[in-house]
Amino acid sequence: MTEKLIYLDNNATTKVDEKVLEEMMPYFKEEYANPSSMYDFSKKSSKAIKEARGKIKDFVNANDEKEIIFTSCGSESANTAIRGVLNYNKNKKHIITSKVEHPCVLNLYKSLEKQGYKVDYIGVNSNGELNLEELEQAVNENTALVSIMWANNETGVLNPMDKISDIIKTKNKDTKLFVDAVQVAGKIPIDVQANGIDLLGISGHKFHAPKGIGALYVNSKTMITPLIIGGHQERGKRAGTENVPYIAGIGKAAELAQDNLKYELTEVKRLRDKLESNIINKIYNARLNTGVANRVPNTTNIGFEYIEGELILLHLSDLGICASSGSACTSGSLEPSHVLRAMNVPFTAIHGSIRWSLSRFTTEEEIDYVIENLPSIIEKVTSISPYQKELKALKALKSK
Ligand code: PLP
Repeated sequence: MTEKLIYLDNNATTKVDEKVLEEMMPYFKEEYANPSSMYDFSKKSSKAIKEARGKIKDFVNANDEKEIIFTSCGSESANTAIRGVLNYNKNKKHIITSKVEHPCVLNLYKSLEKQGYKVDYIGVNSNGELNLEELEQAVNENTALVSIMWANNETGVLNPMDKISDIIKTKNKDTKLFVDAVQVAGKIPIDVQANGIDLLGISGHKFHAPKGIGALYVNSKTMITPLIIGGHQERGKRAGTENVPYIAGIGKAAELAQDNLKYELTEVKRLRDKLESNIINKIYNARLNTGVANRVPNTTNIGFEYIEGELILLHLSDLGICASSGSACTSGSLEPSHVLRAMNVPFTAIHGSIRWSLSRFTTEEEIDYVIENLPSIIEKVTSISPYQKELKALKALKSK
């Protein structure tokens, strides 16, 4: 075991920024009033919500603060948007999504399919890019909603939201577009108006606010039926006494993310590229799973051929390095990720695929430490692989 901590799993969650914590503290301590109360004591908490709403409005470039609803997480934002649109207009029974969505969309679509909705799941190419022709063909006069993520959580691959919105609206101007923007918040600029987006969800813990707070943008022309019914909070779109400290926190995190966007697009990208090119150049059985696809600046997904990702992660963990594999342990068997399967990543690399995701807190020393230590880990794991003949052939091919 080591005291070192090199956290390269920022697509899973991020460290809370000290400045975010500072912003939140008064609302845990002295400013604990219910923001809906009538007395003066509640004014600071209701003002904190108003300010945070304004910051999220600016962050996503919404037209009006009223278009922002605070939720508990990215999953709630997606569920509120998707169920909200479908429950408001129950006549249309066709919905579309992609094969590589986060489970909060994909599993919801599967449950809607069981309830009688006709669903089209749009595929991606081997770089993880959405098949836009397939999308265009799928939209029809009965399509109520399309849900497409802006960036994929496992690969970081970006979807061209402006084109996607154009394709959908040209075929059916009434079809609503929900965008899961959880993995772009703080990584690239978000502009709901320029991209023709009707609904958009983000999650605080992916951009240095705490877990347990999210936001949903709902365009003023888009009607939804609320998921949580009760009091009048969030203009009747999401009942429940507001989580004032966390709302203040996500507002501050959005402001900081906006201030740091340039750094993210230059420095974080430079460190990601350094890590990626060193791994690909130094390790013969490494392959970049996304090829030339356009990606968020912090993510790289690399497959190590003929070896097991879990074993790599255990060795990394011994050195204090946190990364993640696409695999999820389901029913006792190690199922490769649905995202990499949809991309047809070869079976030789799919089990040994590792996602590395950086943040603005990642340092050059940390990246150098990984670059220095990874080759010997891969060598160790490769030496016990049952595919020695194939590895030898691959090595010979790469050294040509
Ligand atoms: N969407 C994407 C693309 C994600 O990566 C995640 C979390 O990993 C979510 C949605 C769900 O967010 P939350 O954990 O806040 O529910």
